[in-house]
Amino acid sequence: MKLRSGVSLAATAAIALASAQLSCAQMDPRWKVHDMSRPLPAVVDPGTASTQQQAGRPPSDAIVLFDGKDLSQWAAAEGGPAKWKVAHGTMEVVAETGDLVSRQPFGDIQLHVEFAEPVPAVGHSQERGNSGVILMGMFEVQVLDSYRNDTYADGQAAAVYGQYPPQVNASRPPGEWQSYDIVFHGPRFDKDGNLLRKARVTVLHNGVLVQDNVEIEGITRLEPTVYKVTPEKLPLHLQDHGNPVRYRNIWVRELAEGQ
Ligand code: MG
Repeated sequence: MKLRSGVSLAATAAIALASAQLSCAQMDPRWKVHDMSRPLPAVVDPGTASTQQQAGRPPSDAIVLFDGKDLSQWAAAEGGPAKWKVAHGTMEVVAETGDLVSRQPFGDIQLHVEFAEPVPAVGHSQERGNSGVILMGMFEVQVLDSYRNDTYADGQAAAVYGQYPPQVNASRPPGEWQSYDIVFHGPRFDKDGNLLRKARVTVLHNGVLVQDNVEIEGITRLEPTVYKVTPEKLPLHLQDHGNPVRYRNIWVRELAEGQ
């Protein structure tokens, strides 16, 4: 059967079904409610929370991208080794050395990042403590000193840059350690390059929900925002915006389809 557009109904239904399956977890029909034969989830040591004085310990199944010691998990976006400064268990943006890219590509992830804004605060609006967590190198969760520093709403700390302001401003003062806990699901394309689902992101800033499963409209650096066809996994970027933002305790957990 053909729709008026010429697309077969079966193909349309298949795409709709695939999209639904990609977009949310569903009850698994293989198991009854309270089925004792259902496999139990893997046991994970959840690690420890960070304090202002000390970075916490990541969950036991996390991929550690920075543990305070070295930049071995990172490269410079323009090629060659990462050139940011490592000292006192932190890594610090060195202006003009470019973004860092993770050596490993990632798609759907849980991501934990801690950052501290420069002291004293220098500059205003977008020029104060600007960096960024750029998922798949395309979708930026803004890092900015947004403590008593007004800028446009969709460009402040924890904004999906240019698209979604955070629900609230949960920023701490410069110098204090802050955290982003991010759940990200990347976009999917069919074999012909049609967009099956947009990327989605949830962000907690210092433990406060600020982005609730928002649908990312496209690559955040582009105007108008569009998608381009990409692999399911691409490196994570940390942005060099010229300000000496520090990072510590960065880890990732890859999510299986349906999580
Ligand atoms: Mg930025």
